[in-house]
Amino acid sequence: MAGYTEHHPDAPEAARSPMVSLRGVDKHFGDLHVLRGIDLDVAAKEVVVVVGPSGSGKSTLCRTINRLETIDSGEIRVDGTPLPTEGPALAQLRADVGMVFQSFNLFAHRTILDNITLAPIQVRRAKRAVAEAEAMALLERVGIADKAGHHPAQLSGGQQQRAAMARALAMHPKVMLFDEPTSALDPEMVNEVLDVMVGLARDGMTMIVVTHEMGFARRAADRVVFMDQGRIVEQDTPAGFFDSPRTERARSFLASVL
Ligand code: ADP
Ligand code: MG
Repeated sequence: MAGYTEHHPDAPEAARSPMVSLRGVDKHFGDLHVLRGIDLDVAAKEVVVVVGPSGSGKSTLCRTINRLETIDSGEIRVDGTPLPTEGPALAQLRADVGMVFQSFNLFAHRTILDNITLAPIQVRRAKRAVAEAEAMALLERVGIADKAGHHPAQLSGGQQQRAAMARALAMHPKVMLFDEPTSALDPEMVNEVLDVMVGLARDGMTMIVVTHEMGFARRAADRVVFMDQGRIVEQDTPAGFFDSPRTERARSFLASVL
């Protein structure tokens, strides 16, 4: 089912044990049924782009995977383990499942370097010098090493979002979730963020990406998942989904965003 592109030569083998697995996941907010029987497996190193109309449940889906939201029924596993509900295991899950939001969520009163080293020092018990050396390498990787001593407000939106990515990566996540990471950015900054994400994908990071950037999906996704009204309505390779969507709902969604 999943289409693996040439930059993931080992993905089919890894697909035998999913990195993320959802089975029959249901979620309500009061009377609102926002996730309806979601089944989804994401293989190690796979890049899954999630698209769908506003309100279809994409953010809620992401948030359930690192337990920012609880679920009503069903099961979610990360790397084979059912999600923990509390304690150190929950902190470890949040480290294993990195999340990048539309709003960058950096600590305003800390430098960029501190933003990245805080959790490794506090949660992973990394030594400061080690955490700082690694943070600098990550800032280099996302192209903002010169901003290490700055505060978030001194950075552009694109730079802040790249700092947020470095912060998540500093926890050595097994999977990265992105919820519309470029939606709040000025257009000229979108590509600098997408380019870092494409690099991560090429380096073999397992990624679930909610985005309306169809160019990114074509470049980097192994699979596109289309959601509507809390359900996965169809999924296919990017070419399959964009060029020949099978449902009327997907066709009208694509017509509205392309
Ligand atoms: P998407 O990300 O696809 O736009 P969401 O997952 O954010 O969709 O939302 C799905 C539905 O759940 C929407 O109708 C939204 O208004 C509702 N919703 C999301 N979060 C909450 C919440 N915390 N409380 C109540 N309703 C919510
Ligand atoms: Mg959303």
